[in-house]
Amino acid sequence: MNSILEKYYGLTNCSLKTLEGYESINFRVTSNSETFVLKKYSYSEETIAILKAEDTVAEKLQSIPRLRFPKSIATQENTPLAIVEGSIYRLLPFIEGAFLAEIPKTKQLQISFGTALGNIDKTLLGHYDAVLTAKDTLWDLKNFTSNWQYLCEIPDAKDRNLVRYFFLQFHEHITPIQHHFRKSIIHNDANDWNILTTHGEVTGVIDFGDMCHTWLINELAIGLTYVMMGEENPHAVAETVVSAYNQVLPLQQEELNALYYLIAARLCTSVCNSAHTKKQKPDSDYITISEQPAWDLLRKWLRINPIRATDAFRKACGLDETKKHSLEHQLKRRSKNISSALSLSYRKPIQMSRSAFQYMYDTDGNTILDAYNNIMQVGHCHPRVVEAGQRTIARLNTNTRYVYEELLSYSEKLLSKFPPQLNKVFFVNSGSAASDLAIRLAKTHTNKKKVMVLEHGYHGNTQNGIDISHYKYNHKGGKGKTEHILQTPMPKVYGSGFESESEASLHYSDFTKKQITEEQGNIAAFIAEPIVGCGGQVPLAKNYLKQVYPRIRAQGGVCISDEVQVGFGRLGSHFWGYELYDVIPDMVILGKPMGNGHPIGAVVTTAQIADSFDNGMEFFSSFGGNPVSCAIGEAVLDVIEEDELQAHAHEVGSYLKNSLIALKEVYKEIGDVRGSGLFLGVELITQNGSPNTDLAQKIKNSLREKLILVSTDGPYDNVLKIKPPLYFNQDNSLELVTQLKIILDKTIKNDNFKTEL
Ligand code: PMP
Repeated sequence: MNSILEKYYGLTNCSLKTLEGYESINFRVTSNSETFVLKKYSYSEETIAILKAEDTVAEKLQSIPRLRFPKSIATQENTPLAIVEGSIYRLLPFIEGAFLAEIPKTKQLQISFGTALGNIDKTLLGHYDAVLTAKDTLWDLKNFTSNWQYLCEIPDAKDRNLVRYFFLQFHEHITPIQHHFRKSIIHNDANDWNILTTHGEVTGVIDFGDMCHTWLINELAIGLTYVMMGEENPHAVAETVVSAYNQVLPLQQEELNALYYLIAARLCTSVCNSAHTKKQKPDSDYITISEQPAWDLLRKWLRINPIRATDAFRKACGLDETKKHSLEHQLKRRSKNISSALSLSYRKPIQMSRSAFQYMYDTDGNTILDAYNNIMQVGHCHPRVVEAGQRTIARLNTNTRYVYEELLSYSEKLLSKFPPQLNKVFFVNSGSAASDLAIRLAKTHTNKKKVMVLEHGYHGNTQNGIDISHYKYNHKGGKGKTEHILQTPMPKVYGSGFESESEASLHYSDFTKKQITEEQGNIAAFIAEPIVGCGGQVPLAKNYLKQVYPRIRAQGGVCISDEVQVGFGRLGSHFWGYELYDVIPDMVILGKPMGNGHPIGAVVTTAQIADSFDNGMEFFSSFGGNPVSCAIGEAVLDVIEEDELQAHAHEVGSYLKNSLIALKEVYKEIGDVRGSGLFLGVELITQNGSPNTDLAQKIKNSLREKLILVSTDGPYDNVLKIKPPLYFNQDNSLELVTQLKIILDKTIKNDNFKTEL
C-alpha cells in the first residue's frame, strides 16, 4: 500500500488505519501531517465509469459554499484513479468533522442539514450522466420492491410482517403516483454516518457509493430517515428539515404526499439488507450499525398516522392540510341513506381512514390503539391476509359447484384444528349465516324443534339468529322468546352469589339438567358461547358444559359451541373456547376472526350430522367457500401459526389481566376481571355492588378521547370488553392500563366516590 501511495501520489512516511466500508477497502492515510482516504476496489470497467461519474458530480458540488465533498486526487500521472494488478485505487481528501450520528441534533443542525440537502439537490437538478442514470441499486427507493428477496431473511415473523405491510403500502400509495415525481441524480445516502459537521453545522457529505438517478424526493426521505432515528419526536425533527430543504428547493405536492411511505420504504430497505448481510458477514458490526435504530423507528413510524405526517410535511412547506370532510357533514350523509337502527360507537363517533395491525388511523390524523376489534384477529390489514385476497381475486373467484384447490386446501387446514370426529365443514359468509345453518342442521339431524339457549347469549342477525339470541329477543325492541326456545341462566361465577366456582357450576348445571328432563326429549340443540361475549365476557362455570352436554345428547339433541368471538387462538391457552371445559361439541360455529375482516363463516360438524342434512335438498351458498374467502381464511390460519399469535395472546393476555387485577385491588369500583388470553372483561360496580353502567360508559368514552378503543356490554352494559387484534403487545397493555387508571382517578374523584386507597 505504501509503495502505491508513494509511486502514484508521491506520499511518503504514510501511516495507514483501516476504515469501515461497504464496497471498497478503505484506509485513513496520514502522510507528513496531511490526511487522506485511500479506497481500494476490485477492477471492473463499470466501477471505473461510476467513480469517474462521481468525481464529475463532486466537481459540480464544489460550488456550494461551506460544504465539502470528496473528489479523487489525481495521480502524479494526472489520472483520477490508479489501476494496479486488478485493483482500482482512489485517493480522496479526508474531510474533518463529527458525524451527524455522534452529536445532538439541535434545531440549528436540523436546519443546516435540510439546507445542505436542498443545496446538493438544487445543484444536481438537471445534471445528466448516462452512467449514473443506468445504475441499478437495491438502495434506490424506486427499486424498493426488489428488496422483497430479503424479506424471508428477517427472522422474526412479526417483524417480517411489519416490513411486508410497508411493501404493501408502497404498492398502494407510491406506485400509482410515481410518474409525477421529478427525477434527478441524487446523493441517495444522506445517512448520519455520511454527514460531517463542525460547530453544529453540516460541513461535509461523503460516500457517493449509492449515488444514482432516481426520484428527487428520495434524497429527503433518506436524510429524514436517519436524522429521526433515536429522536423522541421524530416528526417534529422531520418538519424542521423539510422546511429548510423546501426553502432552498421547493417541494411539489405529490412529493410531499409520498414522503411518509418513502421513509418507511427506506427503513424497510435498511432492515431487509441488514438481515441479508448479517447472514453473509455475521461478524461485521458496521454493516448493521443502523439496524436497531431502524427497527425502533419503523415501529414508531407505524404509530404515526400517515395523514398527520403528510399534513406536517405540507405545513412545513406552507401548504394547507389535506382536505377532510367534517364529522357533521359525514353524519348527515350517513343518516340520509343508512338506518339509525345501525348504531355508532362512542359519544363522539370516529371517522376512520386506514389501519395497521393494532392501530387505526382516523381522518383527523390521530392514531388509535385498538383494544376492541376481535374481528381483526391477526391485525388490521395484515399483509399476508391482504395479499392472499388480492392474489386470488385476480385469478379466480367462483363457487363450490366447481373443483378448485383453495377450498380443498383450506378445509383440510381448518379441520386439522379440530378433533377427528369434527370432520365436515359448511362455509358461509357470516357468523349469523353459520348459526342459522347450524340450527337447520340440528333440527334436520334430530327431527326435533326446540333449541336451548343461554340467557344473554347472541348468535346472529337472521330470524333464526334473533330467535336463539336472548340478548336480542329479550331486550329493547325484542318480541320475547318464541315457542321453540328454551332459555337457561348463564352459568356465571362472579355475581352468582356462590362462594366457589364448583358450587356455581353445580347449581347452574343442575338447573339446566332439570329443564332438559322436563322437556321430555324435544331439544334439537343446545347452543352456548364458551365465554359469553354479549353477556359481559362471562366464562361458563368450569364443569357446566361437562354436565350439560351428555344430558342434551342423551335426549337426542346436539351441542353447539359458538366460537365466533373467542375462536382461533385468542384465548391463549386454547385454540377453541370449548377446550377450556374439556368437552367436544357436535357442531362449532365460526365467523368474525376467521377471515380477519373478510366476510366468512362456517359450521364444522360430524359426518353423521352432515349426512342427515344430505337429504336431497341441495345446500348452496353463492359465496360460501369461494376461492378468495378460502385463500384469506387459510392465510389467517397460517399467520396465527407463523406469527405465534396464540402464544402471544397467552403471554400478553396474562400480563394485561394481571395488571387489571392489580387495578382491582386498588379500585373497588372494579368488581371483577375475567376472561382468558386477549378476551377479557372488567366489570364495574357501585359501592353497594350493583352494576355501574355510568362509570363503564364514562370510561369507554374517556378512553376513546385518549385514543384507545374498548367497548361495553353485559345485561347492564357495565362490563368493559377488551378483545384486541392479536398484535396488541405488552406496551399497548401498559398504555391501556395506565390510561384506565388515570381515568378512574379522575372520574371517581369527580363523582365523589369513597375509595379505600
Ligand atoms: N355469534 C356470536 C357469538 C357473535 O358475537 C356474533 C356477532 N357479534 C355472531 C354470532 C354473528 O356474527 P355476524 O355478525 O358475522 O353475523
